[in-house]
This record gives sequence, C-alpha cells and structure tokens, in this order.
Amino acid sequence: MESADVVIVGGGIMGCALAYQLSKRNVDVLLLEREMLGSQSTGKCAGGVRQQFSSEGNVRLQQRSVAMLEHFEEEIGHPADFRQIGYLFVLTQPQQVEDFRHNMEVWHRVGLAEARWVDAAEAARMVPILNVEDVLGCTFCPSDGIASPADVTSGYAAAARRHGARLREGVAATGIDVASGRVQGVRTTAGDIATRLVFSCAGAWSASIGRMAGLEIPILPYRRHIAVTGSFPAVPRDNPMTVDFQTSLYFHPEGDGVLIGMSDREEAPGFVTDVNWDFLEKMFAQAARRAPALSAAGVKTAWAGLYEVTPDHQAILGPIPEVEGFWCAAGFSGHGFMQ
Ligand SMILES: Cc1cc2nc3c(=O)[nH]c(=O)nc-3n(C[C@H](O)[C@H](O)[C@H](O)COP(=O)(O)OP(=O)(O)OC[C@H]3O[C@@H](n4cnc5c(N)ncnc54)[C@H](O)[C@@H]3O)c2cc1C
Repeated sequence: MESADVVIVGGGIMGCALAYQLSKRNVDVLLLEREMLGSQSTGKCAGGVRQQFSSEGNVRLQQRSVAMLEHFEEEIGHPADFRQIGYLFVLTQPQQVEDFRHNMEVWHRVGLAEARWVDAAEAARMVPILNVEDVLGCTFCPSDGIASPADVTSGYAAAARRHGARLREGVAATGIDVASGRVQGVRTTAGDIATRLVFSCAGAWSASIGRMAGLEIPILPYRRHIAVTGSFPAVPRDNPMTVDFQTSLYFHPEGDGVLIGMSDREEAPGFVTDVNWDFLEKMFAQAARRAPALSAAGVKTAWAGLYEVTPDHQAILGPIPEVEGFWCAAGFSGHGFMQ
C-alpha cells in the first residue's frame, strides 16, 4: 500500500502552499485534489490582498503575507503578479468611521504605518469614477493590492513538486480510517494510503472531510459572484481596489477592464455555483450608485464560486483534538487567498 507522512486533502491555495512548506522541510507529502489544482474557490477569487483587518492577529498575519508576496518570485521561482495598488475602504456610516478609527490605531500600533485616512475629495482624485456625495471618510493602505491566484497556486505546486511532494489531480479522498482515536489512513478513488496525519484543506467541502473521521467541522459554503467588464479606460491599471463597506461592493482593474464583486447577504448556504443574473443586476445597480460611470460598462464574463464560512469568520487552523492526526487549514471565510 502507498504511504505518506502527511496526506493533504484539497489542492487549492491552502493545500498547495502547505505542500510546499512541508516538503521544503523534508516532510513526505501526498496531496489529493479531486478536480484540478486551484480550480475551485481559489480559481474563482478576486485576488485581493489586504492588511486592513479589524483584528490584530489578522493584521499581523497579513503583514507577513504581503512580505511573502513581495518576495514570492525570488523564493518560488514563479511570478505572483502582485500589484500593490492599495485598498480603499469607503465609509458612509458614522459607526463605520468610529470602528475604523479604532482599526487605524491597531494598524499603526503593529507597524502598518502607511495606512491612513483619506477624505472624500482625495478619494475622488484617487478613484475618479467614485461617487463621494455620501462619503464620510476612507482608509487607504498603499501596500495592499491584488495578486494572481492562478500564478501563486501553480507556483507553490511546482515548488512543492521540486521538493519531492506528490500532487495527484483527479483523485478524491473517500474515507479516513480512524482506530483507537487516531488516523491510520485515507481511502481514495485511486486506492488506499497509509498515513498517521491527514490535513484537510478542502475549503467549502471541509465538513464532508471531517465527517469521514467522525468530526463536525463547522464550515458552510456560500455562493459569491464576480463580473468582469470589457475594456474600461476610466478605471486605470493603478486604480486602488475600492470597497464600499456598507454594501460589500468592490471593484479593481482587471486587464483593461474592471472586476466587480459583491456579497448577496440573503444567499442561503449551498454548493450551487450557477450565476444568478437577477443578483448580478442588483450588483450592477449598486455599482452604478457608487461609481456611476460603471453603468456604461458591458459585462464580458461573470462567474460564481464558494466562500467557506465559519461561525466567527475565522479559519480553523491546526490539530483537531478529538482525532489524533487530523489537522485542518480551512474556513478562511472569503479571505483565504490572501491568508
Ligand atoms: C467570488 C470570490 C471572490 C473571492 N475573493 C477573494 C479575495 O479577493 N481575496 C481572498 O483572499 N480571498 C478571496 N476569496 C476567498 C478565497 O478564494 C478562498 O478563501 C480560498 O481560495 C480558499 O482556498 P482553499 O484552498 O481553502 O479552497 P479551494 O480553493 O476551494 O480548494 C479546496 C479544494 O479541495 C478539493 N476537494 C474537496 N473535497 C475533496 C475530496 N474529497 N478529495 C480531494 N479533494 C477535494 C476541491 O476540489 C478544491 O479544489 C474569494 C472567493 C470567491 C468565491
């Protein structure tokens, strides 16, 4: 029977990054991906990378992510296409301004000195298509930006393979053997694997991997949409990633067009990823309010993918104590690429 020190289930950004980090440290890794590497949530994501989080732990983590992306090509030998165009959070409610004042204190305390307040007039200069009539203030961090999920994932996968990791596409985990409270092996569509440690990196599907070992992993799938416009010169390549905090609408330059996303807060959990064109109409209506010029933009393409959401919107990371040898790195709740 084939064996491995560690079996990773899931070949999105998490599984591929972990395969690289472990194999670099001479751990014998076998990764299982039932579709293609990076083809699920990772391949559907907007590529946003920010340090402007409300919790200090996430800010510190993101400072490390940004530093890592800045040196990605040197370390991995593959570009990340990391473009530090900044993130602009647009605030329209007094409570948001108060909350972000607190956040700004945290950011400066942990050394994110470049994060700063921007008033409505400056925001309009930075993002000329922005409607600022109801804007109370914005925060901007110039070292935030966007990177390419496809490049980062394939870079990690190639580097992991160079370090000897075995990455299998088109192979699904179908069961986890547990005896005396600890992992003994993983069953797959291509045979059984003996291992003492399984790492679930299955994103939105993590609950099903947990059930294989008799565990409850509280991660739910939520559909999220993105649309990309045709060529749109009014949003230049250095236009910051712009987030309308009240509605969750965001947009950033994508090629010579604009990538637009927004969360449907009424969406029930589920695995459907068909595009809901009724929701896209709502998204474009909101885009036209926040950036009226966008109403003239035609949709070139649109898709939907899954957020992998935990009850507190924080990832489940590390060993799960009920079953020895079962580890989890999943549930990044919509910010797993950057983390
Ligand atoms: C529309 C949208 C926009 C987003 N924008 C951003 C953003 O701007 N910035 C950001 O940081 N994050 C963003 N995210 C979130 C980000 O995409 C995810 O948090 C991240 O990709 C999760 O990575 P993952 O590796 O955990 O999951 P995935 O990429 O989903 O990988 C999990 C893999 O597990 C595999 N799998 C499942 N079950 C099995 C099994 N039984 N056997 C083998 N393999 C299995 C799946 O096929 C899948 O490939 C966005 C997500 C969406 C949907």
